[in-house]
Amino acid sequence: MSHDDESPAPAARTRVVDAGRRFETRIATANLPVSRASTVLFGSLVEADAAGQATGRGERHATTYATAGTPGTLALADALAEVEAPGHACRAALMPSGLSAISTALLAFLSPGDHLLVSDSVYGPTRAFCDGMLARYGVRTEYYDPTIGAGIAALIRPETRIVYLESPGSYTFEIQDVPAICAEARARGVLTMIDNAWASPVFSRPFDWGVDASILPLTKYWGGHSDLLMGAVVIREELWPKLWTAVRQLGVCVGGDDAWLVLRGLRTAEVRMRAHEASALKVARWLAERPEVASVLHPALQTHPQHGLWKRDFGGSSGLFSFELRPGAFGADAGAVPRGLAALCERRRHFGIGYSWGGYESLIMPAKIGSLRTARAWQGGPLVRVHIGLEDTDDLIADLQRGFEAMRRARGEAPQD
Ligand SMILES: *Cc1c(COP(=O)(O)O)cnc(C)c1O
Repeated sequence: MSHDDESPAPAARTRVVDAGRRFETRIATANLPVSRASTVLFGSLVEADAAGQATGRGERHATTYATAGTPGTLALADALAEVEAPGHACRAALMPSGLSAISTALLAFLSPGDHLLVSDSVYGPTRAFCDGMLARYGVRTEYYDPTIGAGIAALIRPETRIVYLESPGSYTFEIQDVPAICAEARARGVLTMIDNAWASPVFSRPFDWGVDASILPLTKYWGGHSDLLMGAVVIREELWPKLWTAVRQLGVCVGGDDAWLVLRGLRTAEVRMRAHEASALKVARWLAERPEVASVLHPALQTHPQHGLWKRDFGGSSGLFSFELRPGAFGADAGAVPRGLAALCERRRHFGIGYSWGGYESLIMPAKIGSLRTARAWQGGPLVRVHIGLEDTDDLIADLQRGFEAMRRARGEAPQD
């Protein structure tokens, strides 16, 4: 800041407000400082006015106020677009959670009377938003079978505006033929958006598959340490103005501390993801041999129904997958939580019971899938979803083994093996 130095020596109250604010530095550090800010300052009215116009147009790095960006959040948005969409002209906007990224992206492009196609395997809260708020605003959502592929064409109507994908699907891990769906949608002027929670930041290139927007729950692997909530929408440049308008009107934004933590998480994402991948595969293969397990829903296993699509489109697999218990594996028990299932999941040494995933730690959670399927009812047995963290796999396997023994005891059987 430049100022008028004719002013008299300031009073004590002024000095505490003013102290240290003329500090300017060229000290270079590997990481940006945390930008904890609301106010953005300008050197002149002309500068402030120009910044206002540029911010309104959504120009890169333009800001008038921290809701539009600070050095830390703008650096993170740049990083997300670079990592998620290499070789594509894309921009990224930050939201305070993955779910708010989903709702903001949909609100930005939908109007009353529009028709929305959503994968039946979608994240539960996305379904709640579509069936709740979007329905109230006159948007009709239709759920499609995630294995539909190019068959999506038959569901597209003149008023269809968006196809909303998630691959693999939450809890059930179907892999969609994303390139085929995107090609059919684009040929009919319909936008495609994908919830890319599972494979990002390193195992997928959704813009190479043809999507218009990728939705990133940064809470999961990008942050990677279970210590923050954030989401982002990465979108093709020509769609950016419409998204940016919604972001500004809704006032969604993030704080500088959390943005800094996501940038830190990103630096180690590649090595973390490789470790999650290797450990999850080891645990998945062990689970597949268990007598209580009917199937393991992990796209990188050859037994997975869409393994071929996964191999074609993905660069690897993450730490999240489900397994299906054999009918009656935990005994006939009509309670809200069957005793055998509780015995398997509860009191584990290394697996916490929790709804999230993508951090360094392992988690286990049964899936209540019934009400989450409307296009095609879930035919399989009871599902348990695990997130394999960065612990040693021998410890994790021994922990699950104790869980299965506890499950047998809860059924009144002697433990085997
Ligand atoms: C967790 C999750 C989200 C939402 O992210 P939050 O930051 O927790 O709101 C969205 N989609 C999927 C598939 C998720 O697993």
